Amino acid sequence: MIKLKREKDINAMEKASKIVGETLEMSRELMQPGITTWEIDKKIEEFIRKKGAIPSFKGYQGFPASACISVNEVLIHGIPSKNRYLEEGDIVTIDVGAYLGGFHGDAARTYPVGTINEDKKRLLETTSQALEIGIEALKKASRLGEMGYEIQQFVENSGYSVIRDFGGHGIGREMHEDPFVPNFGEKNSGPKIRTGMTLAIEPMISMGEYPTMILEDGWTVVNIDHSLNAHFEDDIAITKDGLKILSRV
Ligand code: MG
Repeated sequence: MIKLKREKDINAMEKASKIVGETLEMSRELMQPGITTWEIDKKIEEFIRKKGAIPSFKGYQGFPASACISVNEVLIHGIPSKNRYLEEGDIVTIDVGAYLGGFHGDAARTYPVGTINEDKKRLLETTSQALEIGIEALKKASRLGEMGYEIQQFVENSGYSVIRDFGGHGIGREMHEDPFVPNFGEKNSGPKIRTGMTLAIEPMISMGEYPTMILEDGWTVVNIDHSLNAHFEDDIAITKDGLKILSRV
């Protein structure tokens, strides 16, 4: 069931989402060769708690850290590790959530470490653009499927594939609410767009094939062909005045 939010709920959720946006901006500075993903996670947790919020991911279904940090071929749910040092040329997805005032925010960015090659640059730009295309499509859409359709067209025309096994979601008092928000599909499909919807939109894109698998740790997701991938996510609300992006600062 899709839980529609009142204006005051959206305002409360925006506070949590903004902290996530600020955390992601802060994290960008941490993308330096030699730092471990464990150190990045500690700084992220500290930052979120200093803002008076709680890291949504910590302990979520047993997840052991505050941020999912996914390096290179890891798509999502990378576990921060004291043994994982960043290197020049890596691409790193920081996916983070914050809980404040009864609501969650959840957003992600894939960042470069130092200088990255042209292939990686184009992948990051395309994924970031796919999120913009999704948001623009949603502004005009009458059904959710129109957004997934536009994202898929754009991504596949760019020579990449769209992840099918994971996608966006409703968000609010729970981090994952209905509906599932696919980044692919048919135009005339999915739930009707309604005022009060709050969604996390998150295109995930692979340079290779789209099927994925989970590694032995029970969390880490990679593409089955171990191709490079990227992931951008923002929270939006459909308000009476139109679409509002909640997680950007
Ligand atoms: Mg999400």
